[in-house]
Amino acid sequence: MLKARAGRAGGKLAPYAAAPAPNGGRLHPEAPPSGRSEYQRDRDRIIHSTAFRRLEYKTQVFVNHEGDLFRTRLTHSLEVAQLSRSIARNLDLDEDLIEAIALAHDLGHTPFGHAGQDALNACMKPHGGFEHNLQSLRVVDLLEQRYAAFDGLNLTFETREGILKHCSVKNARELGHVGERFLKKRRPSLEAQIANVADEIAYNNHDVDDGLRSGLIEFDQLCEIAMFKRHQADVLKLYPGLQGRRLVHETVRRMIDTLVTDLIATTAAAIRKVAPDSLEAVRAAPALVGFSPGIRDEQLELKRFLNENLYRHYRVARMSSKARRIVSELFDAFFAEPKLLPPQFQARAKDNKPRAIADYIAGMTDRYAMLEHRRLFAIEAA
Ligand code: MG
Repeated sequence: MLKARAGRAGGKLAPYAAAPAPNGGRLHPEAPPSGRSEYQRDRDRIIHSTAFRRLEYKTQVFVNHEGDLFRTRLTHSLEVAQLSRSIARNLDLDEDLIEAIALAHDLGHTPFGHAGQDALNACMKPHGGFEHNLQSLRVVDLLEQRYAAFDGLNLTFETREGILKHCSVKNARELGHVGERFLKKRRPSLEAQIANVADEIAYNNHDVDDGLRSGLIEFDQLCEIAMFKRHQADVLKLYPGLQGRRLVHETVRRMIDTLVTDLIATTAAAIRKVAPDSLEAVRAAPALVGFSPGIRDEQLELKRFLNENLYRHYRVARMSSKARRIVSELFDAFFAEPKLLPPQFQARAKDNKPRAIADYIAGMTDRYAMLEHRRLFAIEAA
């Protein structure tokens, strides 16, 4: 069992942790923050952003009105941040940076989760496409309008590169410095690599929990999945006869613990072997973050199960179909008549109509998209 170490404040940073570039490597030079680090400032700006508040009403798997207890993009992002910080602390990485990356990683998601993204991407196909990961960067670099001196949040380079998890070569060329690593085939910081895996740990486990809560997947089905079965047996050995929500939670918390503990141990061993002595060495090294082979296989089995049984469940598919229709009808209506857009997006549409429409739609919460759809299509709506 790994021992938790002292936190960032009392602990030390490893030589392979991210150290911010001079002036934070921000696009617009700013005086250094006082009383907090460059990465703390990034995190604080993310939390205060409009896009962050909107995550509360954006779908993770279940559309907002389907129930109050399901994960939303906001609670998902908080879970990713919590897992990321635990892992970072054990590896002497920068907790503030990883928290900033985790909290911002889903800012560019459309309403209605992946169904919304697919529909918007299809509408944008002739105009350069739409990708939520790229959109997250667009939100923090451009779309948030709160500061007098610049558009966006003017975050550090390291936070921005962590947000941009993947990117096509074509887009990388257009992005300049932050896109370079995709052309040079280099890695981002360990903090960025870990936040990416923490995202996966979070959604696989909370989707088990939400899937059971919704009744779309059954407890007995999950007992055929090695990781679930093993931990459930451990729980029942300790608490014979335990049932219902407590049995689910005790099982899921053990699955998360196993994944996190294995990730820390496997990554620590990879770091020892390669011994990177700086962030630059991390960038040039092979991927250092990962699970041991056995746990990776179990995690993949769980992923496949969720894919087949939850994400493709007919009731999820039915909601996704409605969501896709709403998004593409909104897009088509605005495209045909840009004067239906709010004034600030009409102004943007003068430069690039399809991109302005995509920005407007991507920023919508689930319920705002439904309301806007009614306002455009239902004659009785004002
Ligand atoms: Mg996510």
